[in-house]
Amino acid sequence: MNTATLSPEKDPMGTAIHEYFTKGRAGKLRVHSSQFDEDEIPVKTLFRSFTQMPSLEQEALQLASGKILDVGGGSGCHSLALQDMGKEVCAIDISPLSVETMKRRGVLNAQVANLFEPTFTDTFDTILMLMNGSGIIGKLGNMPAFFIRMKQLLQPNGSVILDSSDLKYLFEDEDGSFLIDLAGDYYGEIDFRMEYKNIQGETFDWLYIDFQTLSLYAAEYGFEAQLLKEGEHYNYLARLTRKQ
Ligand code: SAH
Repeated sequence: MNTATLSPEKDPMGTAIHEYFTKGRAGKLRVHSSQFDEDEIPVKTLFRSFTQMPSLEQEALQLASGKILDVGGGSGCHSLALQDMGKEVCAIDISPLSVETMKRRGVLNAQVANLFEPTFTDTFDTILMLMNGSGIIGKLGNMPAFFIRMKQLLQPNGSVILDSSDLKYLFEDEDGSFLIDLAGDYYGEIDFRMEYKNIQGETFDWLYIDFQTLSLYAAEYGFEAQLLKEGEHYNYLARLTRKQ
């Protein structure tokens, strides 16, 4: 498990977020992957307000209760919306530039920390992982470490609320059959690399996981998985509740 934080010279997304906040506009935040064509994240969408969020995210914020951890807070959009609702939230991010932006935008408790860094030791009632939040788990092989970590950070009966997508549709043939190599790596394991102006990020692993696979791991590690809502594009919102 990667437990590092980012230096600004290798932080394209944090730089884009910081620039958008300080200058009111930003350039192209490019996303490269060995599995997909080049794509772009409109930096403005990282600053979405509650009303601009997809309904899946709105529901996640409404369900979050008690002391909340916003994992990978980015610009702070979710933490700010939670604060507006009168909820208590701590945002963490591996990007010091994003954390600085969150603080300047009014997030009361924002810290530079990696979710998997053992020195981060607080406990929470709800852990939020949004914008394909399962991505931070990286690879399917990290699921055991992920659940062990969630047990450390969650209060008894606490829960993780996350969104993800089943990438199965990418492998769907015209006749509706699926061309998945079951002997190969799990089909939701994607590598990404970001680029913003002259700043090149390192390649990182990002996990998209189907709900059934997530439920199987959850059950094995003492969590109950609940499908809260399905989106329009094979995406969904799930809650993982700690049973012991
Ligand atoms: N939640 C925000 C940002 C999503 S992008 C939104 O929905 O707009 C993912 C964010 O997670 C980035 O800001 C990235 O720096 C952060 N991140 C990635 N890995 C992390 C980790 N292991 N621990 C904490 N934050 C992480």
